[in-house]
Amino acid sequence: MYSKCTGHKNASLTSSTNDSSSILIHNEKDKLLDGLLVSGFDEASCISRVQSHSFRKASLHKPARYLISKLRDYEELHGKCGPYSRAYKRNVKHLQSKKNIGAAMCKYIVWDPSNGLGNQMISIVSSFLYAILTERVLLVRFGADMNGLFCEPFLNSTWELPKNTPFWNERRVETYQTMLKKDKANNISKEALPSTLFLNLQHTIDDPEKLFHCDYNQDLLRHIPLLILQSDQYFVPSLFMNPSFNLEINKMFPEKDTIFHHLSRYLFHPSNEAWGLISRFYQTYLAEADEKIGLQIRVFSPNTTPKQAIMDLVLNCTISNNLLPELDTKNPASSYTRNKTLNAVLVASLYPEYGESLRAMYLNKPSISGELIGVYQPSHEEKQKFHDNMHNMKAWTEIYLLSLSDVLVTTSLSTFGYVAQGLGGLKPWLLYKLISNDTHFPACERDFSFEPCNHIPPKHYCNGKTIKDYASSFPFLKGCIDYSIGVKLVNDSAT
Ligand code: GDP
Repeated sequence: MYSKCTGHKNASLTSSTNDSSSILIHNEKDKLLDGLLVSGFDEASCISRVQSHSFRKASLHKPARYLISKLRDYEELHGKCGPYSRAYKRNVKHLQSKKNIGAAMCKYIVWDPSNGLGNQMISIVSSFLYAILTERVLLVRFGADMNGLFCEPFLNSTWELPKNTPFWNERRVETYQTMLKKDKANNISKEALPSTLFLNLQHTIDDPEKLFHCDYNQDLLRHIPLLILQSDQYFVPSLFMNPSFNLEINKMFPEKDTIFHHLSRYLFHPSNEAWGLISRFYQTYLAEADEKIGLQIRVFSPNTTPKQAIMDLVLNCTISNNLLPELDTKNPASSYTRNKTLNAVLVASLYPEYGESLRAMYLNKPSISGELIGVYQPSHEEKQKFHDNMHNMKAWTEIYLLSLSDVLVTTSLSTFGYVAQGLGGLKPWLLYKLISNDTHFPACERDFSFEPCNHIPPKHYCNGKTIKDYASSFPFLKGCIDYSIGVKLVNDSAT
């Protein structure tokens, strides 16, 4: 119905018998992403949950049974302890009176936003995995700028921290760093631990890790009912460095490079408003294309990087890797044939010039291969805006559209691109991050995994010694192509 990428749907129909009940079962399986999602949601309240599987190719990566069972357990916990439950009301009272009644209490993570949408989404996924591993309930503190972007991910509950919660604006709580100082000075007793703690794992913090992943610190954190967690990072690789988390993660994700892929598809469903924008754009410009090429052009230093240098980089990357065809400059008139290949390029950028010049280029001259190239850019916001709901809606729309591509080109170090590649299960071509009027060869490199890069992995082992080489100490962690200080998970250490 929607595009040529519905191939998997047809395949699933032909692989079933002709009886209509098995067709229904197949469609239900597709819709629920092989058991990743749970049934029972009101379909009209979140149309993307029902329709999105027919906009993309079926994932090549199936969720493990163990992951599915952990998600079902989590949903139960969220229902029992989440907002508006009896336990929640009781716990909030205890937290207000700074009482920690120990094991009888539900435990929570309140995720606190920082930075752009991509940064926020990668840190939400990390916080969710941390919540599953530590049996905490994840609540997100969405401001007005995040209104109506996503559907609720958990059946019969909400993941949004209610605005009337006493700790909605809580800033006077003890910080993780202060707690560690106290503990260092005088081994802190469990009774002296606070009931609420602010944990800042942002990239701007000098020593954001403070050995957060280590058993000793996790033992302290385990006794604190409410963690307010602020991060803009994909800190899953640091969780992976903890032996007991590592065991669980391995069971949940036998394919280690699929953590973000599965968890982002589980959590992030475009709201009906976002889905309207995504599906209309998709069906108008992309659905009929033989191939869809997503091109994310993020310019981190717009004042020092000329637009032409960026454009040269993009063309060098796409043409030399046969992602886009060269122009036929000798033969200005291409002959008309009925079976022309039509490819669509989706450009995501804050600036209009890139989409415009690429579109003009392929309209003004034929391509050597005879392919027709349509170029579409949904928006050009000119700059990153904060506290702006519609700006975030556009960003989310474009991240999602990029994730529907067949081939993806992203910009090094951009978390906006990380989310698109992870949702789509696409190993992107990473454009070099230009910051001045230079040229760089190669212009881009193919990534080895679609996991996001953790830009600030822990620098120390739990015994305090400096980590010199991640890959030899932690199989399945590898330096990122786009940021050598960063690490990401790979399925096979030898990749
Ligand atoms: P990063 O800074 O590239 O890691 O990505 P973030 O998503 O964390 O922050 C950049 C923010 O700038 C986005 O969330 C958007 O608000 C905005 N932005 C950057 N590039 C684009 C783009 O191509 N399209 C749109 N609509 N917004 C963008």
